[in-house]
Amino acid sequence: MYSDSQLQAIQNLKTQIEGEILTDKASLTMYATDASAYREFPVAIVRPKSIKDIKTLIAFAQKVKIPLIPRAAGTSIAGQVVGSGIVVDVSRYMTHVLEINTEERWVRVEPGVILDELNKILEPTGLFFGPETSTSNRCMIGGMVGNNSCGTHSLVYGCTRDHDRADLPP
Ligand SMILES: Cc1cc2nc3c(=O)[nH]c(=O)nc-3n(C[C@H](O)[C@H](O)[C@H](O)COP(=O)(O)OP(=O)(O)OC[C@H]3O[C@@H](n4cnc5c(N)ncnc54)[C@H](O)[C@@H]3O)c2cc1C
Repeated sequence: MYSDSQLQAIQNLKTQIEGEILTDKASLTMYATDASAYREFPVAIVRPKSIKDIKTLIAFAQKVKIPLIPRAAGTSIAGQVVGSGIVVDVSRYMTHVLEINTEERWVRVEPGVILDELNKILEPTGLFFGPETSTSNRCMIGGMVGNNSCGTHSLVYGCTRDHDRADLPP
């Protein structure tokens, strides 16, 4: 499906990424699925460690013409994180709560923060992130943003898009 030069470019990418790049059969098999019934082998998996890694990946994908498939916890049920491109797994390293502002009632997080863990950290402040997706003990904020996730009390707490704001650092 991909040309030799595209595959070689992925190998070269290993020197430019701080995180991991996996292309072994076992890893490709693991990431060929999510919570859905869909199955497709990716060409590679990247576990970025920083925003710089993500920027490098986006530039790489545009240049080499291989799609990126962002992946958080992989609990989607419509094949959202399955595909033949490069799976970008934010669940391994990008898992930090960066800043909490109780006065203005916002929190800045990396995309691999699990919803229940975020709310546990916020508990002492009396605040919580409202959308109560039923997979809250594993779904991650990046995936909730991607799916605009919500829960049984969405009429009260809204969906993720009612609460998120993407502030990209320079
Ligand atoms: C049993 C079960 C019950 C469920 N119940 C609910 C429910 O009550 N409400 C609900 O809304 N959903 C539900 N879901 C679906 C799913 O669990 C949620 O939508 C969940 O929030 C997805 O989060 P995730 O971390 O697993 O995301 P993933 O499945 O990993 O990704 C979801 C989407 O977000 C994109 N994405 C991930 N990370 C990023 C990123 N950093 N940047 C940009 N895009 C990104 C992915 O490409 C994908 O398109 C359920 C699923 C199951 C299996």
